[in-house]
Amino acid sequence: MLNALNIAPPDDGFAVRVSHLNKTYQGKTGANQALRDVSLNIKAGSIFGLLGPNGAGKSTLINILAGTVIKSAGYVEVWGTDLDTNARQVRSNIGVVPQELNIDAFFTPRETLEMQAGMFGVPARERRSDDILELIGLTDKANAYARTLSGGMRRRLLVGKAMVHQPPILVLDEPTAGVDVMLRQRLWSMIKTLNNAGVTIVLTTHYLEEAESLCEEIAILNHGQVITQARTVDLLSGAGTRQMIITLSAITANDVEKVRAEWRRLHPNLATPDMTLEGRQLHLRYDPKLVMAGAIIMTVGAAGLTVEDISTREPDLEDVFLALTQN
Ligand code: ADP
Ligand code: MG
Repeated sequence: MLNALNIAPPDDGFAVRVSHLNKTYQGKTGANQALRDVSLNIKAGSIFGLLGPNGAGKSTLINILAGTVIKSAGYVEVWGTDLDTNARQVRSNIGVVPQELNIDAFFTPRETLEMQAGMFGVPARERRSDDILELIGLTDKANAYARTLSGGMRRRLLVGKAMVHQPPILVLDEPTAGVDVMLRQRLWSMIKTLNNAGVTIVLTTHYLEEAESLCEEIAILNHGQVITQARTVDLLSGAGTRQMIITLSAITANDVEKVRAEWRRLHPNLATPDMTLEGRQLHLRYDPKLVMAGAIIMTVGAAGLTVEDISTREPDLEDVFLALTQN
C-alpha cells in the first residue's frame, strides 16, 4: 500500500497556509482580479473542499499552489515550506490533478506513471507503479494504450499520475465534473482510501453534494473572496431553517391564508412560517429552535385541512451556498 506519510506533518498541523493572497491576470482587455485578499488554512490529514460558482477563483488558487500560476501578492506555505523561498520543495509536496483531461494517448497507464516518476526524479527502486495502478483500479489496463481508456479511466490515471512522487497533499480540480454517477462513487471511494492512508486532500467542486459527503471543512469563494471557511457540520447546523412539506387531501390559495390566520391567532408572539403552495403540497420554512413541528401540524388542522403526509428536510449545503452567494 502507498505510504504517504513518510514526511511528518508540519509542527503547526497545517498542510497549506494561505494569507492575503491576491492574483490579478493582465489581459489585452485590461486587468482581471481573480483573487482578493484570500486567507485560509487547511489541516494536515483532512479532506478540504474549495467551493464556489464558475469564475470564483478556485482554479487560480489551486494553480498557484501547484506552481503553474504566479501569485501577485500574499503568502503561501505548503507542508511548512514557503512558496517564495523553495518552490521546488512545494512542488514535491503536492500532487495536482488538473481540471482538463490531458493524457498522452500513445502510452499505456504503466508507461505514463513511469514517465511521470522519472520527471519527478523518483529512483526506479522507489517507484510504486503497481500499487498505484491497483489503487486507481487500472491493474488490468496497465498495458493498454491510453487512447483505448474510457473518460473515467483517464481521470483515474490522472490521479495516479499526481501520486507517483507520493506527495502528502493531493489537489483535485473538479474531479467529478461531467462524470456519471457510478464513476463519481468510484472516485469518491478512491479519495477516501487515499485520505485514510494519510494523504491530505484538497478538492474544488461545484457539486455541493460532493463537498457535503467528502469534506470535513469547506471554504466558499465568490468573486475571488473567501466568504466563509468552516467545518461542514457547523455550516449545516448554522443554516437555521428547516423545511416541512405537508401533503393535503385538498388545498387552495385561500386555505393557505386561513393557515396563516390560524397561526397568528394561536401563536401571536411567533413569526409566521414562510409558506408556499405547490399542487396539494404546502411547503413551510421555519426555525426549529423557535417553532415545533407539532405546532405547525396543529395549525393546519385548526384551519380545517386534512393532512395526508408530512416530511421534513434539513437544510443542505445547497441552501447555505445559495444564501451566501446570492450577490
Ligand atoms: P473557477 O475555477 O472558480 O471557475 P478561475 O480561477 O478559473 O475560476 O477564474 C477566476 C477568474 O480569473 C475568472 O474571471 C477567469 O476568467 C479569470 N482567469 C482565469 N484564468 C485566466 C487567465 N489565464 N488569464 C486571464 N484571466 C483568467
Ligand atoms: Mg476552475
